[in-house]
Amino acid sequence: MLQACDVTYTINGSTLVAGVDVEVKPGRVVALIGPNGAGKSTLLRILAGELRPTRGGVMLDTRDLKSFSAAELSRQRAVVPQASVLTFPFTVLEVAMLGVSVPGFDAAPAQAKTSALDALDAVGLRDLAGRLYVHLSGGERQRVHIARALSQLAAPPYHRDKTRCFLLDEPTSSLDLAHQSLVLAAIRRQARSGTAIVAVFHDLNLAAALADELVLLESGRVMATGPASEVLRDDLLSAAYGCRVLTNRTPGEGKPFVLPPAIFPASTASGLSEDRKVGMQRLWH
Ligand code: ADP
Ligand code: MG
Repeated sequence: MLQACDVTYTINGSTLVAGVDVEVKPGRVVALIGPNGAGKSTLLRILAGELRPTRGGVMLDTRDLKSFSAAELSRQRAVVPQASVLTFPFTVLEVAMLGVSVPGFDAAPAQAKTSALDALDAVGLRDLAGRLYVHLSGGERQRVHIARALSQLAAPPYHRDKTRCFLLDEPTSSLDLAHQSLVLAAIRRQARSGTAIVAVFHDLNLAAALADELVLLESGRVMATGPASEVLRDDLLSAAYGCRVLTNRTPGEGKPFVLPPAIFPASTASGLSEDRKVGMQRLWH
């Protein structure tokens, strides 16, 4: 289990994360949501062991993350950062294989190649394996980094008795609809294999579709934690994002969803319940 207790991060007099508790069990997906600057990326980096909290701590199973060596961390968790800069003339396959050439791995080259190709397949990039990374589009590059992390998680040796973690910062921010689904499916599969997952999302609907639990951050603090049905609420989201937000429910399953009001004209609000329609019209007029 990955567990953050009272995690606080202060730098140059600014507190970016304040007293946060998060718990992620193996096989569970937690999504971090909240407005720009809420502290999501900072918290994710702390959970990844890249930043040390100034107060509180992060435990992975029974050990404090700060006692892990770089090699031990590499074997137990993979990270997809918000932005990755890579200017070397690597092919897509070579970048994906970086996942298994990090410290702590001594996979045979053939095995490393197989797991990298499988990971590229999972994100729809197998056909581009020989292409130069720098020639890819933004969305393709984003998927290469996800493949790199997936191959890291797939590669032996890892400790079957220890929790493996997958931490992703806005993994779908550059992706079209089909590739959003593909990446969500890959993350879900990884969760089913017993990995503890934490992912930052801007798209609240994707967060709700994927995660077992949402953590809503605002100014470094947790405003709400729980399933989407409890966290995607008009009052909480409006307060967190500083604008009027109206949630709705899908027909049938009744899952909450959020539409940006500015692009959803009032005249198309048919199908919404009467009080929602009134609420939405108030937003537009
Ligand atoms: P999010 O990912 O939720 O958009 P971040 O965790 O990246 O937010 O950043 C949280 C806040 O901390 C932002 O306002 C950002 O400008 C600020 N911040 C990030 N790094 C530093 C730093 N090294 N020094 C001071 N402020 C920082
Ligand atoms: Mg961020």
